[in-house]
Amino acid sequence: MPQKTKALVTGGCGFIGSHLVDLLLAEGFDVTVIDNLSTGRRENLAHQAGNQHLHIVQTDLNDLYPEQDLFEGIDYVFHLAALADIVPSIERPLDYHRANVNGTANLLAALQHRPIKKFVYAASSSCYGIPDRFPTAETDDKRPQYPYALTKYLAEQYVMHWGQVYQLPVMSLRLFNVYGPRSRTSGTYGAVFGVFLRQKLSGAPFTVVGDGKQTRDFTFVTDVARAFWTAARSPLRGEIFNVGSGGTYSINLLTDLLGGEKVYIPKRPGEPDCTFADITKIRQLLGWEPRVSFAQGVERILQEIDYWRDAPLWDRDSIAAATRSWFTYLS
Ligand code: UDP
Repeated sequence: MPQKTKALVTGGCGFIGSHLVDLLLAEGFDVTVIDNLSTGRRENLAHQAGNQHLHIVQTDLNDLYPEQDLFEGIDYVFHLAALADIVPSIERPLDYHRANVNGTANLLAALQHRPIKKFVYAASSSCYGIPDRFPTAETDDKRPQYPYALTKYLAEQYVMHWGQVYQLPVMSLRLFNVYGPRSRTSGTYGAVFGVFLRQKLSGAPFTVVGDGKQTRDFTFVTDVARAFWTAARSPLRGEIFNVGSGGTYSINLLTDLLGGEKVYIPKRPGEPDCTFADITKIRQLLGWEPRVSFAQGVERILQEIDYWRDAPLWDRDSIAAATRSWFTYLS
């Protein structure tokens, strides 16, 4: 039997990573997941239990070294492991630096002499901060507003630098507001879908920030997973691409689609009124297109709403307490 193509997915037990693992296994790959399980959950891959082509290694990016067996014969590397969320990044910036920047540099150094076909990095649209232009293109100004955004952006520069200096075949995807089944439900406040779906399950009102007219480029997770594989397969290297849905959707539209009462909570400092990716480049150079409309995506997520039953239930007061440092430092 011919040798299977081998992929390594860091953060493969996380939300986006687990969907990418599903796609790669469906493509017939042998997949090794590296995850320190600090926020990733094994349950995210429970449906793959018994699949002999999936190997989950619990380890930290900072503990990796070049001779490690798990790098043997790897064709593609997808680097999604990172600490997420804004508030804890403001409270613990050095933890974010260590995980997101040092962790990425250590992974790159470990791979430097391996003959991999592609290294694809999960970058964040938060590098654009509050943009001047919508839709926002890859070349527009970078203005990270908080440590999470800064560390994801610094790590992207490391990735591109490794491509330039050591000829590692790298690619970076700047992801815009990814949502879908298994969207994060860690203890910290963040990611609107986890907050709203848990509120819906309890019949509690949706905590709408500001007037709810702000919009986000909500991109469905299976489209994002396909963008990673499309980028890996492409002969191009050293390129950065936005990955978005082709549209931008208000929080009021989201609460209408979900259905339920609302309460309003204060607008947060440093938060853009709109995120909207210009996806001309990825369309033209990679031929990638988003396929799942916002209404379809919300419908699909509602079919799996039970996943959020264990998620923390937020209300106006607990959000005010949890976001105190946000208002203190970013105002
Ligand atoms: N949002 C909201 N209520 C919440 C949490 C978030 O209305 O309890 C809004 C927030 O103002 C933003 C959008 O949902 O416009 C997405 O927020 P998230 O924190 O998921 O992502 P980001 O702000 O980083 O784009």
